[in-house]
Amino acid sequence: MQRFGVIGGRLVSGHGSLFQRAPLVSHCLLVETISGLVLVDTGLGLQDIEHPRRRLGSGFVFLAQPHLDPDETAVRQIERLGFSRNDVRHIIVTHLDLDHAGGLSDFPAARVHLLEEEYAAAMTPTSFTARYRYRTCQWQHEPSWVRYQVQGERWFGFECVRQMEGLPPEILLVPLKGHTHGHTGVAVNTKNSWLLHAGDAYYYRGEIAPNKPCCPLGLALVQRLGAVDNWMRRGNQERLRQLVREHNQQVRIFSAHDPLEFEDFLR
Ligand SMILES: [Zn+2]
Repeated sequence: MQRFGVIGGRLVSGHGSLFQRAPLVSHCLLVETISGLVLVDTGLGLQDIEHPRRRLGSGFVFLAQPHLDPDETAVRQIERLGFSRNDVRHIIVTHLDLDHAGGLSDFPAARVHLLEEEYAAAMTPTSFTARYRYRTCQWQHEPSWVRYQVQGERWFGFECVRQMEGLPPEILLVPLKGHTHGHTGVAVNTKNSWLLHAGDAYYYRGEIAPNKPCCPLGLALVQRLGAVDNWMRRGNQERLRQLVREHNQQVRIFSAHDPLEFEDFLR
């Protein structure tokens, strides 16, 4: 987990003053499997911390104000658990936005799994927005990419990619497009239930509340402006609400940036 202090105060976090920075997090998931460690999303990496403006851009550093603490990077946290960076054999990215892909360069030996559309959009960012979100310097080390197309398999009614190369069948891609062209959730079958890392499909826990969904205004605006297909993004949020409504006992959903969802895992 990494911390951010995003501009917009109450409009982003839903409480406090307008002039405070709103606390958001970058929530990664580490899964121990028979195929080695699997990391879902990487957050910011050591090189982002060392050269924030060059790697992330001045605009992002000002607006999101990431905590530039190497101890918060995934690689340092994994080392504190007693593993080495080479134990991470596979990385799955929900998408390649700069706050999800920065740590790729800390695990140069890992294979990186993602949807084909995300790869295509990120490798040749042509518009201003695409160049803001996709920082090609974050994959200059030329990782070993493994790209997927969806082929009609299903998981709780969602399309999914059921068998990923070299990974156990307990881990699936669950495409949730709209935030970016190839944005995907990642489902992990734990002993008794499923975890679904929903990436940036939503930012605020209230958005998937089954009855009265809600989101602070500023955060809703950020998501709308950041979406490549807002209609699809909102449709996916409705499908996630339906998943909560119908399968709350079987699936636990969390997003990449909500600090309270992260804290719930620490209890
Ligand atoms: Zn993000």
